[in-house]
Amino acid sequence: MSRHHPDLVLCMKQSGTRVGRLCEKCDGKCPVCDSFVRPTTLVKVCDECSFGKLEDRCIICDGYAVADAYYCFECTRLEKDRDGCPKIINVGGSRTDLHFQRKKEGQR
Ligand SMILES: [Zn+2]
Ligand SMILES: [Zn+2]
Ligand SMILES: [Zn+2]
Repeated sequence: MSRHHPDLVLCMKQSGTRVGRLCEKCDGKCPVCDSFVRPTTLVKVCDECSFGKLEDRCIICDGYAVADAYYCFECTRLEKDRDGCPKIINVGGSRTDLHFQRKKEGQR
């Protein structure tokens, strides 16, 4: 239960100025690695992921948001906070392509 469901990928678009939010259940959790250890850097999501009522949604599970999201210390150290919007999106049918793209990018 520590890993994200394989069907879920992160948005990774360029972050905007909006702060990512988490629900009660995910409060304190790092959106990148699921760690609860030392929340360090405030999460910024892209404009698309903070649009309208998405602003009140947990970026991990889409639940009702109650708290700001933070990257853990480790992800901050690895500069994951600069990778872009960490909102989790369920890409469903097109996931193979996206997954492949992400993998390729990771190899750079
Ligand atoms: Zn992390
Ligand atoms: Zn996004
Ligand atoms: Zn949540």
